[in-house]
Amino acid sequence: MPLARLFQPCLCILMALSCAMVPAARAADAPATPAQGETFTLQLAGAEAPAQDANTGTVQFIGTATVIIRYQGFTILTDPNFLHKGDHVHLGYGLTSERKTNPAIKFEQLPPIDLVVLSHFHGDHFDQLVEKKLNRATPIVTTKEGSERLKRLGFTRTFGLSSWDKLQVSKGASNLRITATPGRHGPAGVAVLLPKVMGSILDFGPDAAAPDYRMYISGDTLVYDDIRAIPQRFPNIDLALLHLGGTRILGVLKVTMDGKDGVRMMQVVRPKKTVPIHYNDYDVFKSPLEDFAREVKAAGLEKDVVYLAHGETYSFTRVQR
Ligand SMILES: [Zn+2]
Ligand SMILES: [Zn+2]
Repeated sequence: MPLARLFQPCLCILMALSCAMVPAARAADAPATPAQGETFTLQLAGAEAPAQDANTGTVQFIGTATVIIRYQGFTILTDPNFLHKGDHVHLGYGLTSERKTNPAIKFEQLPPIDLVVLSHFHGDHFDQLVEKKLNRATPIVTTKEGSERLKRLGFTRTFGLSSWDKLQVSKGASNLRITATPGRHGPAGVAVLLPKVMGSILDFGPDAAAPDYRMYISGDTLVYDDIRAIPQRFPNIDLALLHLGGTRILGVLKVTMDGKDGVRMMQVVRPKKTVPIHYNDYDVFKSPLEDFAREVKAAGLEKDVVYLAHGETYSFTRVQR
C-alpha cells in the first residue's frame, strides 16, 4: 500500500483535531501565569569538582539533541539517542523515522553520567537502545508524562516537572538548578497528540540570583507566546541549545523549529551564544542547517552562533555578573 494512503487516516485525524482545537489554542497562547512552580532536590554522591572546572565548562555535541555538558564537577547528558544510521525510531501513531547520521560516540563510550535532562519522551530523544541499556538508577529530569513512562520502564530516580518547576541539584560543594520552561511540540491542536515537551534552564553555581553560567535548552518546540516568559524570568542567558530541523510529521505538519524559527527564538530569548542541534539526523527533519545559517546571516547574528559538527566541543568560561 502506498505510504501516503497508509497515513491518510492519521492525517485526517490530525487535521480534524487541529481545526477543532483552534479556539482552545488561543487560550493556551495567553502569556504564562506568574506561578512559581514546585521545587525538588537531588543530592548526588561524588567528589569535589576539580578547581579548573569551576571556571571552564564544555558542551560536546553527540548528535540529534544529545549533548554532554561538563561543568563544576557535573556531567549531564541530554536527550540520549545512540541509534545508528539506518535504524528506525517510533514517533507514535505507527509513524517511524530513519536515522541518517551516526552518534559521535557509542553508548558504551559514555563517561559516568550524573543525570539526564530529557526534553520529552520521543524516539529520537530516548531510543530503544537507551531504554534497554541505561542504568535504571540514573537520575532523569523530564516532563511529568515522561517521568511516568520512565517509571513504568523501571527507572527509579525520575523527576517529572511542569513548567517553572525546579530541581536543585548538589554534588559536593557544586550546585545546579534546573528549571522546566514552556515548550509546545507543534501547532496547538497538533501538539496535544504528541509528547509534552519541556525546555530547560540550567543555572550553575551557588548564587541563584547571579549564576556562574546560564544555559537554555529549547526542547522540540515552536516559538509561541509562552516562550516570551523565559527571558523575562531568566534574562542574560549565556548559551542556548536550539532543537531545529523543521521536523514535519506526515510531510506537512511542522512540529519543531526550522531555520527561520531558530532565528526568531534567538531574538526572543536573546542568548549570548547559540548552538543549533537536532538538525540533520532523521528523515523527518526537513529544514537543513543551511536554512538556519542563511537566516542567521540575514539577521546579522553570525557572531552569536557556534556551529558544531557531531563530536565537536564548545568550551565556555564562567561569567562575571
Ligand atoms: Zn519530538
Ligand atoms: Zn525530536
